[in-house]
Amino acid sequence: MGAVLTQAVAWRNVETALARLKAAGLLEAEALVAADRAVLEAALRPTRYYASKAERLLGLARLVLSYGHPGRVGLQALFALPTPPLREALLSVPGIGAETADDILLYGAERPVFVIDRYTHRVLWRVGWWADPRYHYRKLQQAVEEAMAGSVEEYQEFHALLVRLGKEVCRPNPLCRQCPLQAGCLAARGQRALQAPGPALQG
Ligand code: SF4
Repeated sequence: MGAVLTQAVAWRNVETALARLKAAGLLEAEALVAADRAVLEAALRPTRYYASKAERLLGLARLVLSYGHPGRVGLQALFALPTPPLREALLSVPGIGAETADDILLYGAERPVFVIDRYTHRVLWRVGWWADPRYHYRKLQQAVEEAMAGSVEEYQEFHALLVRLGKEVCRPNPLCRQCPLQAGCLAARGQRALQAPGPALQG
């Protein structure tokens, strides 16, 4: 749920929405699909784009239930899939893209999959690690995974650190003097544009 709700909104808003869902008894898949749509959307209102996020949560709940009832059994069966078919199953839900699917894989199903998002891309581009202006999601993800070959815990930690750096320091207008990466960063030395020249990040 968090992977869906966190898109384009601060995590504290996600926590508010999750608390509302819990209070309404809507944390389980079967309760979600049976819920009154207005009640569901009201719970999700703090997360912006709440109507489309409600649709995505319902899609995930239906996917879980297609693997078994009650939802906890379905989730167990779904998460027992090998990583490639599990990723395909998640991507089959309307509105679920590569980033959300990989968030679920890494943090929910605990698979060794690195998540690319606007923070990871921004930092890796600016420091000079990612040099291909024709980047897209899968290419950058594969490059990180090949270079790192990390465990689930290492990918989680590295991703979380990059997200924190991207949110707090390597902002659109970066605070380079506060950055632990400043000494080796191309952008901090004026040798790299702050924005990658390539096309928008693709799934
Ligand atoms: S030194 Fe500046 S541009 Fe480079 S990663 Fe840190 S904040 Fe971003």
